Amino acid sequence: MRLAGKNVLITGAGSGIGRSTAVLFAKEGAAVLVNDISESQGQAAVEEIVSLGGKARFIQADVTDAASVEAMVRQALEQEGSIDVLFNNAGISGVGALHEVEPEQWDRVMSINIKGVYLTSKYVVPHMMERRHGSIINMSSCIAEIGLARRASYAATKGAVLALTKSMQVDYAAYGIRVNALLPGTIFTPFVEQYLKNSYDDPEAAIASLKTRQLSGELGMPEDVAQAALFLASDESKFMMGSPLYIDGGVVFGKNA
Ligand code: NAP
Repeated sequence: MRLAGKNVLITGAGSGIGRSTAVLFAKEGAAVLVNDISESQGQAAVEEIVSLGGKARFIQADVTDAASVEAMVRQALEQEGSIDVLFNNAGISGVGALHEVEPEQWDRVMSINIKGVYLTSKYVVPHMMERRHGSIINMSSCIAEIGLARRASYAATKGAVLALTKSMQVDYAAYGIRVNALLPGTIFTPFVEQYLKNSYDDPEAAIASLKTRQLSGELGMPEDVAQAALFLASDESKFMMGSPLYIDGGVVFGKNA
């Protein structure tokens, strides 16, 4: 029970990494506030947690909309009394070299992946500052550190999230708030399945090609990232501040040949 007594807000927790993390955090004793833009996905995550004996509540909000996020945080604080951990997880992919990306697509990726982190943190941080306590986990990606073909908009957002994490940490360290970033490699979630469907005719060849980027022969799974998030959320990581945590099967620091 590494999160016993903690209240946790996870954005985009209706699917993939967010959902897997919500389930793990609840098993570790947290009361989980499951945010998602999709009510059906968010409610399904809550039902899964409750069926396993955990504590969870769904809060619908679009992380790109200030009023929606402010209302979500107000509701969370009214219902639970505090937020000990914020996991800024919601995000979408953006495919294309820079010249292929339409301005509307660029804005959408920036809005969900960066503005969403800004807005959710903006409304949660004053509460954490008041309590002089909190852990914020921002979802970056190993793409913040390496070039990957045809991911210009997505890479720009994840680099920004990593830089934002370091700035936030400097500003809020004095208030007992830790801010760290997760940098996953390719993790097999609906997000990646969709990308494989859109980009390749042969799914087996696509998976084989993904594996050539990494040292591990296994595909990364949502549970692998959830375990890393658990470490950052718990007091076991109390000396980690403003740090990137890689969960990438050896993409960034390894070389296969
Ligand atoms: P996912 O399965 O698509 O889950 C993301 C969730 O966020 C979805 O439930 C989605 O709802 C929700 N969402 C989208 N826009 C939202 C908004 N405006 N407000 C609130 N919720 C919103 O994706 P995932 O693979 O778990 O990715 C989660 C995070 O990890 C993302 O930030 C992603 O960039 C990052 N990441 C993923 C990988 C990977 O390989 N999977 C690698 C590195 C980093 P809808 O389904 O209704 O859109």
